[in-house]
Amino acid sequence: MRHRSEGHVPGEVSDAKDDAAIDAQAVVADAEVERDLAELREIRLARQRMADGSYGTCVDCGAEIDPRRMLAQPQTSRCVECQALSERA
Ligand SMILES: [Zn+2]
Repeated sequence: MRHRSEGHVPGEVSDAKDDAAIDAQAVVADAEVERDLAELREIRLARQRMADGSYGTCVDCGAEIDPRRMLAQPQTSRCVECQALSERA
Protein backbone atom coordinates (compact mmCIF):
# COMPACT_ATOMS: atom_id res chain seq x y z
CA MET A 1 0.00 0.00 0.00
CA ARG A 2 1.40 3.30 -1.09
CA HIS A 3 1.09 6.44 0.96
CA ARG A 4 1.05 9.81 -0.72
CA SER A 5 3.46 12.13 0.97
CA GLU A 6 1.04 14.92 1.73
CA GLY A 7 2.46 18.25 2.72
CA HIS A 8 5.89 17.45 1.39
CA VAL A 9 5.42 18.15 -2.29
CA PRO A 10 8.08 20.70 -3.33
CA GLY A 11 5.46 22.80 -5.13
CA GLU A 12 3.50 23.33 -1.92
CA VAL A 13 6.33 25.15 -0.21
CA SER A 14 6.44 27.83 -2.90
CA ASP A 15 2.63 27.93 -2.90
CA ALA A 16 2.68 28.76 0.79
CA LYS A 17 5.20 31.53 0.10
CA ASP A 18 2.99 32.86 -2.69
CA ASP A 19 -0.01 32.80 -0.35
CA ALA A 20 1.93 34.79 2.22
CA ALA A 21 2.93 37.31 -0.43
CA ILE A 22 -0.67 37.59 -1.58
CA ASP A 23 -1.82 38.02 2.03
CA ALA A 24 0.73 40.79 2.54
CA GLN A 25 -0.41 42.49 -0.65
CA ALA A 26 -4.03 42.22 0.46
CA VAL A 27 -3.17 43.83 3.80
CA VAL A 28 -1.38 46.67 2.03
CA ALA A 29 -4.28 47.06 -0.43
CA ASP A 30 -6.76 47.13 2.48
CA ALA A 31 -4.73 49.82 4.21
CA GLU A 32 -4.64 51.87 1.00
CA VAL A 33 -8.39 51.52 0.52
CA GLU A 34 -8.97 52.51 4.15
CA ARG A 35 -6.80 55.59 3.70
CA ASP A 36 -8.54 56.52 0.45
CA LEU A 37 -11.96 56.12 2.07
CA ALA A 38 -10.92 58.26 5.03
CA GLU A 39 -9.65 60.91 2.61
CA LEU A 40 -12.90 60.80 0.63
CA ARG A 41 -14.89 61.22 3.86
CA GLU A 42 -12.78 64.25 4.79
CA ILE A 43 -13.18 65.75 1.32
CA ARG A 44 -16.96 65.21 1.46
CA LEU A 45 -17.06 66.93 4.85
CA ALA A 46 -14.90 69.77 3.52
CA ARG A 47 -17.37 70.26 0.65
CA GLN A 48 -20.21 70.39 3.18
CA ARG A 49 -18.34 73.05 5.14
CA MET A 50 -17.80 75.01 1.91
CA ALA A 51 -21.53 74.79 1.28
CA ASP A 52 -22.54 75.99 4.75
CA GLY A 53 -19.83 78.64 4.91
CA SER A 54 -17.83 77.13 7.76
CA TYR A 55 -14.95 76.03 5.53
CA GLY A 56 -11.62 77.32 6.82
CA THR A 57 -12.97 77.58 10.35
CA CYS A 58 -11.88 75.14 13.05
CA VAL A 59 -14.74 72.75 13.93
CA ASP A 60 -13.54 72.58 17.54
CA CYS A 61 -12.67 76.15 18.59
CA GLY A 62 -14.21 78.15 15.73
CA ALA A 63 -10.96 80.00 15.00
CA GLU A 64 -9.93 80.70 11.43
CA ILE A 65 -7.53 78.00 10.22
CA ASP A 66 -4.16 79.24 8.96
CA PRO A 67 -4.52 79.66 5.15
CA ARG A 68 -1.14 77.98 4.67
CA ARG A 69 -2.53 74.96 6.50
CA MET A 70 -5.63 75.02 4.29
CA LEU A 71 -3.40 75.08 1.20
CA ALA A 72 -1.32 72.16 2.45
CA GLN A 73 -4.35 70.16 3.63
CA PRO A 74 -7.49 71.50 1.95
CA GLN A 75 -9.72 68.93 3.67
CA THR A 76 -8.56 69.80 7.17
CA SER A 77 -11.29 70.71 9.65
CA ARG A 78 -9.23 71.80 12.64
CA CYS A 79 -6.63 74.43 13.44
CA VAL A 80 -3.14 73.20 14.28
CA GLU A 81 -3.75 73.36 18.03
CA CYS A 82 -7.04 71.45 17.99
CA GLN A 83 -5.66 68.89 15.51
CA ALA A 84 -2.77 68.22 17.89
CA LEU A 85 -5.22 67.88 20.78
CA SER A 86 -7.51 65.49 18.87
CA GLU A 87 -4.56 63.35 17.80
CA ARG A 88 -3.36 63.13 21.37
CA ALA A 89 -6.81 62.17 22.64
ZN1 LIG B 1 -9.17 74.96 16.80
